Amino acid sequence: METKTVHFDMKAMIPKPDYALTLVDEIADEGINAILVEFEDKFPFDVTAGIHHPCAWTKEEFRRFAEKCKARNVELIPLLQSVGHLDYLLKYPKFRELRDGGPEGSSYQWCLADEASFELWRTMADELLAAFPDTKIFHIGADECRMNVPCERCGANRLDLYVERVARCCRYIQEKGVKVLLWDDVFRKHGEEKFAQLPQGVIPCVWMYGTLDTEYIGRMAARGLEFWGSSSIQGERFYHAMGPQEPRMDNVDAWGEMNERYPQITGHIGTIWGRNQCQSPYKCNLPQSLFMVSYLAETLNRGVIRDREKFIRAFGERFFGMELDYNALITSFCLNPGYAEPIVTELKDKAPRHRDIAEIWYGLNAVDQMLFYLYSGFANNESLLSTFLAGMAPREMTAAWLENVRRSRENTEQGLAELRPLMTKYFPEAVWEEFTDQRFRARLELNEYWRHVISAAALKWDENLKRL
Ligand SMILES: [Zn+2]
Repeated sequence: METKTVHFDMKAMIPKPDYALTLVDEIADEGINAILVEFEDKFPFDVTAGIHHPCAWTKEEFRRFAEKCKARNVELIPLLQSVGHLDYLLKYPKFRELRDGGPEGSSYQWCLADEASFELWRTMADELLAAFPDTKIFHIGADECRMNVPCERCGANRLDLYVERVARCCRYIQEKGVKVLLWDDVFRKHGEEKFAQLPQGVIPCVWMYGTLDTEYIGRMAARGLEFWGSSSIQGERFYHAMGPQEPRMDNVDAWGEMNERYPQITGHIGTIWGRNQCQSPYKCNLPQSLFMVSYLAETLNRGVIRDREKFIRAFGERFFGMELDYNALITSFCLNPGYAEPIVTELKDKAPRHRDIAEIWYGLNAVDQMLFYLYSGFANNESLLSTFLAGMAPREMTAAWLENVRRSRENTEQGLAELRPLMTKYFPEAVWEEFTDQRFRARLELNEYWRHVISAAALKWDENLKRL
């Protein structure tokens, strides 16, 4: 495998720029040699001035990041979406005119019949290539184009417009002597024969995050042209903090089998999606994924991992420099945070190496524990709602439940106050605040609602007693 890539999605809870330099060392040490950087609103494009995220890095910070990558032989692959996933731009009035379907249309993708959308993309691509002059590979995204958006200009020919536009973006980058990658799914879904309309040398990246469609992968190989695979090495659809690791290992194993079968697969991207869309809640981030980065690197460098438990044990001992029950730790992330807690606490307090990762695991596992506590409390309240409303809950019961409500709030507030100084060593304060707001604020407001309901139930019980 030539290009062993990890995805750095800057939609995510991004690390601080200085800490990100350490992460480049960490992924390089594990055997990764490329990083796919998806910037969204975290790169200070001149052409989109005024819409950058408050925690966007400066050009100087990106320059130092690129320098670090170069020093560690990690290929920096910029990714600039060329069709959809554009809410980060199109949600602003300034770019509304570019929306597919016109100003009242979707903020997800831009109109492919509008020359202005190509012009903006080209300007942004130029800015990225100027900021990263050593770029050898460039990813134009182009996944998940929606074909059912009503647009007068795109009409019935959106697929043709899509292929035409994507091919044009590819040519623009190729003319600069840079290799082009794109996601394969629109072709896979709407017509594999259309791959033939792409300029020669464009490399499709086949992303499959669950069970692989091995027949399709076989057909891609049978074309005799190079392509890349792409796995998901971190994921959590219910917005816990750590993701369950086992399905991710299964996905990487499945790709490992394909790599061994097909020499046409010359690169791989382990994705770590920071959010579903730029306006969805935060999901996964790079530093929390270091175990899976290592698992992926081992697979890409030495083939499918046959003894998972042995690999996990060896990883833990090498990476952190101490013996612990790493199998229990890795398999309890997300699913059983209470079980992971003592192990990850010991790591955080004592690990001779990579204390940063231990602290981040500790922090995110603590978030999961708090979430489990909140979820279980609310579930009980809901099943008792009619009892509360009828005034049928005895005083002992309402007192205990009010105590539960008070403790939920206190535990969460106290837990978050304790985690803050630890986690803001690695993440900007504003993104950590956003992350914890998304996980907890709405739940604490619900908690307040339950306090009112249960307090009223207690009074009603007293009234009912008097009436008897
Ligand atoms: Zn259109």
